Amino acid sequence: MSQITASTCCYCGVGCGVLIEHDGEHILGVQGDPQHPANFGKLCSKGATLHLTGDLDARGLHPELRLGKGLARTRTDWDCALDHAANVFAETIREHGPDSVAFYISGQLLTEDYYAFNKLARALVGTNNIDSNSRLCMSSAVVGYKRSLGADAPPCNYEDIEQSDCLLIIGSNMAYAHPVLFRRLEEAKAKRPEMQIIVVDPRRTDTCELADLHLAILPSTDVALLHGILHILLWEGLIDRRYIDTHTEGFDALKSLVHGYNPQMVSELCGISQDSLQHCAMLIGRAPSFLSLWCMGLNQSSSGSAKNSALINLHLATGQIGRPGAGPFSLTGQPNAMGGRETGSLSNLLPGHRDAGNAEHRAEVAQYWRVDSLPQSTGLTADFGERDRSFR
Ligand code: SF4
Repeated sequence: MSQITASTCCYCGVGCGVLIEHDGEHILGVQGDPQHPANFGKLCSKGATLHLTGDLDARGLHPELRLGKGLARTRTDWDCALDHAANVFAETIREHGPDSVAFYISGQLLTEDYYAFNKLARALVGTNNIDSNSRLCMSSAVVGYKRSLGADAPPCNYEDIEQSDCLLIIGSNMAYAHPVLFRRLEEAKAKRPEMQIIVVDPRRTDTCELADLHLAILPSTDVALLHGILHILLWEGLIDRRYIDTHTEGFDALKSLVHGYNPQMVSELCGISQDSLQHCAMLIGRAPSFLSLWCMGLNQSSSGSAKNSALINLHLATGQIGRPGAGPFSLTGQPNAMGGRETGSLSNLLPGHRDAGNAEHRAEVAQYWRVDSLPQSTGLTADFGERDRSFR
């Protein structure tokens, strides 16, 4: 007899809810969950064909063990496989210490799984060598959020997309990378055509089809563009002085920083006209609510954290944060990258937005986990395997 199990699509960061029809052994079909707040029943072609990848023929159904690199894998049972893995870890730790092992965990894990791996690595093994896909995907956004807002937590939700008056999509081909969310934006724009959409991308992607303004800047000139927009907003008096005085610090330093980014210089650097730069700044500065969406075009860059900070600064300077339809909203690549970061799945983090480098935070978590202490040594990162100092 067929049954329905509610779950989440494992592919992209939209996090669509799915209803899986199965008979307890075989997946018979997958549909969008009409009650789910991310997608309200919609799925893209990847999500709609999930059941094909869940086919028994395509799945590993039992553990296999290879006792030497030159040997073939042979079938084993779960007890043997788990004992083997635990013994290899234990022997390595006994011989070479806790920092001789490391965990690299996936953005497809559930939040509870992330938490359990963190506890295993830090409290039981005693190493901070635990990192996740967020290192390669979202670490620039993490730095931007922490540096500008004090916490790695996007201050927006999907409903803001429908409520915003002006959206800036920068470094994201959302139509391809986050298709169901893009459909949601298309519907919102169809209902409220006055909603202004700006796309910043050196390429003319399908996302640009929805744009009122497309700025095809030269690659790697995003920081100059964002500073140039703030320069114009300052010049035009379109900043929110009351918000700045009440909620921010260091604004004078930012003002000095963007002072030199005049429209002529920025238009030359970015390869766009001064008119389009001015038009973009006016759309943002005059919008009752302003939301920005970005993805790997900003994050996966040698200056990714500077790009994130420059964008968040724009929101802080205009007070466009912390109210409906406004704020900086990073689009993540993997379905539960944020769940991983909330449970401490970067080598420098601890659960609950705490830092592994902070003695007070370590003591709090150690007490909660009922261990004497947590490791102090800086954990290895997944990108270059270097000891991470970037977030400290
Ligand atoms: S938009 Fe993303 S989460 Fe939704 S169905 Fe497609 S791949 Fe899955």
